[in-house]
Order: sequence, then structure tokens, then C-alpha cells
Amino acid sequence: MGLQKFKVGVKCATITPAEARVEEFKLKKMWRSPNGTIRNILNGTVFREPIVVKNVPRLVPGWNKAHCGWQACGGGAPERMEIFSFDKPGVALGMYNTEESIRGFAYACFGYALDRKWPLYMFNQEHHLEEVRWQVPADLQEIYEKEYQSKFEKEGIWYEHRLIDDMVAQALKSSGGFVWACKNYDGDVQSDIVAQGYGSLGLMTSVLLCPDSVTCETEAAHGTVTRHWRQYQKGNATSTNPVASIYAWTRGLAHRAKLDDNKELAIFAESLEAGVIETIEAGLYTKDLAICVHGTTKVTPDQYLNTVPFMDEIAKRMKAKLASKL
Ligand code: NAD
Repeated sequence: MGLQKFKVGVKCATITPAEARVEEFKLKKMWRSPNGTIRNILNGTVFREPIVVKNVPRLVPGWNKAHCGWQACGGGAPERMEIFSFDKPGVALGMYNTEESIRGFAYACFGYALDRKWPLYMFNQEHHLEEVRWQVPADLQEIYEKEYQSKFEKEGIWYEHRLIDDMVAQALKSSGGFVWACKNYDGDVQSDIVAQGYGSLGLMTSVLLCPDSVTCETEAAHGTVTRHWRQYQKGNATSTNPVASIYAWTRGLAHRAKLDDNKELAIFAESLEAGVIETIEAGLYTKDLAICVHGTTKVTPDQYLNTVPFMDEIAKRMKAKLASKL
């Protein structure tokens, strides 16, 4: 993949086809999730981090640094094992992790925590899937002690394994500023909760990091926002939040700038992010942000901008920043 060659890629939201979409786009079959496919090829781990803006109120008021959920995903063929022997109708859910994917998960995670200089917590439910239960924490602990502990201690950060009750208490009560390691499904659910806690899915970024802690793919955590697309198809104006998508670009470009030691590109990415934050802090919102500020039932059209005028405001501030820095 080009992404592996260039060490960075920026991904748009993609459609995971459901039956209606197979029909709508005349697809040959119900293709599997593009995100899952890319993750499996790269043996990558997804890190989600909200963009924190001062004047967008948070549902949990103490959350003022970023929280970061992530999910382990990995490639490799699953082993066949019996989950349950049914004597009546029912459904079963199976999960697997290969040793390689657990190690990839560990390296991506330790690398990310070290880069952010944030402590790292792994949590586990006590009662699910006996065989898998202890493998992940044990592997992480071993890798931590052998390869990361001294680097972490030098930065004044740590890695700890927590039980779920402690972890949830910490997530709700603390101000954030830590990496929260979750397995695949847990990560998906927790990061959606965290996204809402910070205001809007439109403020949630997502980075897929490879075990080398260098190769990465950046994207917005949200999807294609179909509801707005349907409005656009009808010719109606929409107020879609472009912030997480803009950050997918800025984070991707900033990463490339770091790899190439390209100062101009770094300044471009910084200025664009600053333009976004200044626009919102000037009280200019898209509708989802206005809802966070004014409440769901109270928002009137004069309290928010549509997508394009909002982007124009960002561009104006970004250009002013660039002019002062370059
Ligand atoms: P979605 O994230 O597109 O939208 C869910 C709801 O969140 C929307 O109705 C909207 O109210 C709100 N929202 C999300 N992003 C917003 C933004 N930028 N501005 C304003 N409001 C925003 O999820 P969905 O509707 O469940 O899925 C739509 C499509 O996107 C599906 O085909 C799904 O497969 C795909 N999807 C892709 C990704 C990805 O590529 N990373 C992630 C999730 C969903």
C-alpha cells in the first residue's frame, strides 16, 4: 500500500455497505468494512482523541484534557474453537487475537503514550473469554517491563493494568490526559461515549498507528454523515462540522512534516488547527456545536453557520496566521 511506503495516509469516512447500500450503489456484494480491511493489512491500532475547545461545554464538566480510547485489531487467521454447544436456538459471538496482533497493539500503544507523554491504562473485564482474558495484559506487562518501563519513568509516566470498575471511575472523575487501552469492541463503544462527552462526534479524531509507532493513517472518527448528505442531495443547505476531517489532514501533514523535517509544512498544519480553534472560540459554530452550547431545543439559525461559510471563517484565520509566520 502507498500508505506503508509513505508512512502516512489521510482517509475519508467510508461506507460499510449494508443491504440498502448494496442496492443503492449496485455493488456486486456486501463488501466488508474498509476500515477493518485497512486495519488488518497494517496490523494497526486505532487511537481516538477529542479536540478540546474551551467554549464547547462538556457533558462531564471535569473533562478538560483529552481522553483517549483505543482499540486493538489485528490480522492473521483465527484459531477454530468451540464457544458453546447449543441444544436450543441461540446466537454466539466469537473473538480472537493473534499473538502478533497483541504485540502490535502493545507497541503501537506504548509508542503513542510515550509520544503524548501520558500514562497508559489497560482494562479488562474479569468474566469474559477465559482463554483470551489474561493473555493481553500479560503480554503488555512483559513488553512494558523489558522495553518501555525505563523510558516511561524518565518521562514521569507509567503503565498500569486496571479492573473495569476502577477504570470507569477514573475516566469519569479525572480531567483526562491518559491513554485508555481497550480491546476492539470496547474501544468502539467507549470512544463514542467519550466523543459525546466532549460535545460532538465532529470533534473526535482518529489515528491508526502501526506497531513501528511511525506509520499512521489519520481520519475523523465519524462516518459519512448520511443524514446531511441526503439533505444536500435534495438541494438543502447543511451545517456539517468539518473539524475532525480538517484535523485528519493537519495531523497527517504534521506527521509527514516531522518525518521530513519540513518546517513550512509543520507551520501550515499548525496554522490551520489554530484557525479552527480561533473560529470556534470566536463563537462561530456549526449546528452540532451550537447545540452543545445552547441546548438541543433552543438553537436558532442565527446561532450557527452552514458548512461552507464556517470553512471560510477558518480559512480567513488560517491565512492571517500563515502570513504572520512564513
Ligand atoms: P455518522 O458518524 O456518519 O453520523 C452519526 C450522527 O452523528 C449523524 O446523524 C450526525 O447527527 C452526527 N454527526 C457525525 N459527524 C458529524 C459532523 N461532522 N457534523 C455534524 N454532525 C455529525 O454515522 P452513521 O450515520 O451511523 O453512518 C453513516 C455512514 O458512515 C455509514 O455508511 C457507515 O458505515 C459509515 N461510517 C464510516 C466510518 C469511517 O469511515 N470511519 C465511521 C462510522 C460510520
